[in-house]
Amino acid sequence: PKPAEISAYLDRYVIGQSAAKRTLSVAVYNHYKRVNMELHESAGQLDGKKQALGRRRRTDPLADVEVAKSNILLLGPTGVGKTYLAQSLAKVMNVPFVITDATTLTEAGYVGDDVETVLQRLISAADGDVERAQHGIIYIDEIDKIARKSGENTSITRDVSGEGVQQALLKILEGTIASVPVEGTRKHRDQDTVTIDTRGILFICGGAFVGLNDIVAGRLGRHESGFGASWHDHEVKPEELLEQVSADDLAEFGLLPEFIGRLPVVSVLDELTEADLARILTEPKNALVKQYRKMFAVDGVDLAFTEQAVNAIASTAITRGTGARGLRSIIEKTLEETMFELPGMDDVQQVIVDAASVRGEGLPKLVRGERRLVA
Ligand code: ADP
Repeated sequence: PKPAEISAYLDRYVIGQSAAKRTLSVAVYNHYKRVNMELHESAGQLDGKKQALGRRRRTDPLADVEVAKSNILLLGPTGVGKTYLAQSLAKVMNVPFVITDATTLTEAGYVGDDVETVLQRLISAADGDVERAQHGIIYIDEIDKIARKSGENTSITRDVSGEGVQQALLKILEGTIASVPVEGTRKHRDQDTVTIDTRGILFICGGAFVGLNDIVAGRLGRHESGFGASWHDHEVKPEELLEQVSADDLAEFGLLPEFIGRLPVVSVLDELTEADLARILTEPKNALVKQYRKMFAVDGVDLAFTEQAVNAIASTAITRGTGARGLRSIIEKTLEETMFELPGMDDVQQVIVDAASVRGEGLPKLVRGERRLVA
């Protein structure tokens, strides 16, 4: 798919975040273009078309150019859709996908998972098909948590879960042939390790990077003070500041310069507004409101949310500061009592969730009518 098609597909699932969608669409499009290009070139060589290739080399000045890969760094607070975007991308591209958490990784040889286990999981996600796994997408969450711990004496305490993991990730991010133990995958029963080339794997790293905006602000302040710093005057939103993030800021945050170099595509996701959250509740294909309606419909009950209820759920999520992540638990809490009692009542036709019930000031309204057939 072309970038515009990828972005349009993402629109069906992910609300807002249009800047990130554009950046990601282009990056993913370019990534798979490069992968295809390499496949063509190596296929050409295998076919014994060396002569043709030689001829092309002479005529095409770009034939020898190797395009390096561009992994992606997503910055943004929790629950705004970083993981979800990466996951939706894998769906559009129809490639295997795994999510991993940088905090669970450690340098090889220490307690915890080595980075190779991530590749192992990708192969499992591809049903043991290494070829397919080599074009997969790996999302690494909480990448900000493996920043170098400043202030600690690293010469005494080896930083095996921070800088050590960055070092270990460097190689697979860049592209390497890794040897990975396989367990229980059907196709490789007779061998215990398998080699996987990570050059075609797209890595998307995400993190909240709390405190990074202060670093950016500090740098901008330093630079601009000589010119009569003007940006102090109006209230600058954190995400506006983050958009100005540079490699130096990330280095100051504690990422290794080499590591930053492997993540050349940087995109900032915005904090979701109350209106965004209300749309997330109702609009996407798998919107939460639709999910719960479906659950109730199975029992022959129509579940309705008033507009005010949807807004109340959104505003509660805002006060909790968990972004879209908090939405489900708010609905669960609101419907808990009803879901407990409902299976025992066979004359309820409709359940109406209103704003008061969301705020815990009452229960959702039950509309009773004829008896239903309860399974
Ligand atoms: P993050 O990785 O940024 O912390 P997630 O992507 O895990 O957040 O978001 C948690 C859940 O919230 C997702 O699974 C998705 O259902 C929902 N969600 C978050 N942001 C959006 C969005 N912009 N549009 C639609 N759903 C979203």
